[in-house]
Amino acid sequence: MELRIYFDADGSVTFQSLAADLVPVAQRLDPSFSPDTTVRPRESARYLATRRTPVASTPQWTGLSNDALWAWHHQTRDTEPIAERPLRSRLDLKIELTARLLTQCTLCPWDCRVDRLAGELGFCGLGRDAFYTKELLHFGEEAEIRPSHTIFLTGCSLRCVYCMTGDSVVTPHTGHRVEPADMAARIAQRAREGARSISFVGGNPDQNVLPILEVLNACDVDLPVVWNSNLYGSADLMELLEGIVDIHLADLKYGNDRCAHRYSAVPRYWETVTRNLKTAARDARVVVRHLLLPGHHECCTQPVLRWLAENLSGVAVNLMTQYRPDHLVLRGRRPELRRPASLGEIQASKELAASLGVSVIDHDRP
Ligand code: SF4
Repeated sequence: MELRIYFDADGSVTFQSLAADLVPVAQRLDPSFSPDTTVRPRESARYLATRRTPVASTPQWTGLSNDALWAWHHQTRDTEPIAERPLRSRLDLKIELTARLLTQCTLCPWDCRVDRLAGELGFCGLGRDAFYTKELLHFGEEAEIRPSHTIFLTGCSLRCVYCMTGDSVVTPHTGHRVEPADMAARIAQRAREGARSISFVGGNPDQNVLPILEVLNACDVDLPVVWNSNLYGSADLMELLEGIVDIHLADLKYGNDRCAHRYSAVPRYWETVTRNLKTAARDARVVVRHLLLPGHHECCTQPVLRWLAENLSGVAVNLMTQYRPDHLVLRGRRPELRRPASLGEIQASKELAASLGVSVIDHDRP
């Protein structure tokens, strides 16, 4: 039998399937792991509660305006879930709102306003459907959520010159189409194999929010939902994620718009992502990821750490040191990025974080 294990450049490990022969390997990586004693979140996964939250007695909302549905969504934010699934749940309402939003897509600041349900494509190149390139048990995340059933979706709102994801970002109609019932069954299977969380990653999950919500509506697994994204989305997107996501693993890549535009080709980066981080932190647990780019300590790392210290002081930060030249950088673009961050830059970042009281994740801790 062939047993596949993937080792990422950052040292994280992924199992395609956790067959019995690999359980001892998983336990060496994470001594607390057992396929028979899946650790449950302290509270039930939030999407399950949202799915048991009633919003209306009438099953029809086709005649209702978007404003009326958003008002309903707002009014039911604190409604208590009931024991059984209602006729129409708050998750159903989120799906309806998302579908309407896709008819004039404003899910992210590109503001394309194309009708994705009718097959029109905007900057991200995604229509109605989502696609995934692989779904695996991933051991690269924090101890409490790993192994995570990680679903790698295609498409992204950024165009990073050093992107490590490859062609699935710019040609997102690749891989396997996400079918809600099929993906829900895969999630259930991964839970039986020992998954402790469900991670939606990319590319980027934000542009795929409609199929993801449909997957969760078909799913019964009580595991926390991890949203691993660039968080370069609209305020409406953040509203839709409220009550769904348990943990945001969110990038804060740049400390200013000039670098964001030069290396990821996006406008209004700083105001968008810092606003969304504050919104996310009011709703769910947040871990911020900051990739240490070579030569960007003063322009990016310093303002990022200072902003986090002032605005999200309790949030854990992952100072990611695994940057390596990739993608367009290897073809000659932005030659200043043709090296990793130096040991001096890494050390200076850690010292600044410590001096500001920022809580940095210790990767040496099990
Ligand atoms: S998700 Fe963003 S990039 Fe994609 S069509 Fe919508 S607004 Fe455009």
